[in-house]
Amino acid sequence: FSSVELTTAYLDRIQQADSRYNAFVTVTGSQALDSARAADARRAKGDASALTGLPIAHKDIFCTAGVRTSCGSKMLDNFIAPYESTATARLADAGMVMLGKTNMDEFAMGSSTESSYYGATRNPWDLEAVPGGSSGGSAVAVAARMAPVALGTDTGGSIRQPAAFCGITGLKPTYGRVSRWGMIAYGSSLDQAGPMTQTAEDAALLLNSLAGFDPKDSTSMERPVEDFLANLNQPIKGLRIGLPKEYFGEGLDPGIRAAVMDAVKQFEAMGAVVKEISLPRTELSIPAYYIIAPAEASTNLSRYDGVRYGHRCDAPTDLADMYMRTRADGFGIEVKRRILVGTYALSAGYYDAYYRKAQQLRRLIKQDFQQALADVDVILGPTTPSPAWKIGAKSQDPVAMYLEDIYTLSVNLAGLPGLALPCGFQSGLPVGLQLIGNYFDEARLLNIGHQFQ
Ligand code: GLN
Repeated sequence: FSSVELTTAYLDRIQQADSRYNAFVTVTGSQALDSARAADARRAKGDASALTGLPIAHKDIFCTAGVRTSCGSKMLDNFIAPYESTATARLADAGMVMLGKTNMDEFAMGSSTESSYYGATRNPWDLEAVPGGSSGGSAVAVAARMAPVALGTDTGGSIRQPAAFCGITGLKPTYGRVSRWGMIAYGSSLDQAGPMTQTAEDAALLLNSLAGFDPKDSTSMERPVEDFLANLNQPIKGLRIGLPKEYFGEGLDPGIRAAVMDAVKQFEAMGAVVKEISLPRTELSIPAYYIIAPAEASTNLSRYDGVRYGHRCDAPTDLADMYMRTRADGFGIEVKRRILVGTYALSAGYYDAYYRKAQQLRRLIKQDFQQALADVDVILGPTTPSPAWKIGAKSQDPVAMYLEDIYTLSVNLAGLPGLALPCGFQSGLPVGLQLIGNYFDEARLLNIGHQFQ
């Protein structure tokens, strides 16, 4: 069938289903059909890649030329970027068809997609439950079959955790693997874009186009990109898997533990060798991350001043009034909280006590991973301590929400790749396991994921 037929089917599905889920902020119907026609023409000329004509949904954090990029915020409700992010441009160059932009926590701050200016997104497995976040819209688009694949971003778990809550696959690549250019910045030393898909194989296909050096992002790595599809079928006999004891302790839901341990048995049956390891500073990743990410966010968000782009308050009396009222009306409560925490931690007198300490912890957390990965090939654990919670259950208690990120944050602090894979259900809600690999070991993670699926 043609890309036009496929795209039309997905657009119909979005139109019919998304009023229940609220996964999309913007649907780009006529533009999608134009791209689909162009993709069909490319296919007819024999100038197609494996991705040509395939639809995709993009988290609304990627700048897309001519299409609104809101980042889930009132501040950018009227923002139309004049340029395209490298990640979305590479997929478009491969011939992918953008269906629209997906809902997210405001400026990617959150774990539930409830902090969006456009309202909460609902989990397709239980409409009263959150889909996870911040890439909740992308996860739901894929889980509810409104898009075959989607793009998300992950600063502290925002690809892996919604993938786990919605029963799909999500890959956070190594920091530096995918260009961050044109991706609205949250915590620049932590942010990374990646695929959200039904399978590890689909993730490999997308990563083949996404990965690689970009002169516009000085933190993207100048190293050759392998073919991530090449080793998917390799047997995993002899693979050394480490189970961190800190990931299976108190606070882990027993149903999640059982589902992850069942998966471990399957890996053993395939010939993997499993042993217990330790990541002793796991608990400290929460305070370290919730200093470093807000500190970086507070500086990144200083650009929203009402002058250059985005929201501007009505009738400002002078410059200071414009700054203050623009930011007071434009940002939501969680974003304001992060800006306050971040500026506090960076201020003279507190910098040494908070920011410097957090950076020291970050170094130790990275060392713990390096030590563990000297003995095992990959680390396996749950992606989240509990399944998706009810909408509203944690929105008044930010610290309770932050604690839910315990298994994902340290991976970003260390800059390592992490792959979330669906591995069962607990009380009717999906459970995800997480594989953590060494730097640039995405091919191995995807191979293991493909063998498991
Ligand atoms: N939940 C974490 C936060 O709120 C991670 C979000 C993300 O990865 N973008 O910061």
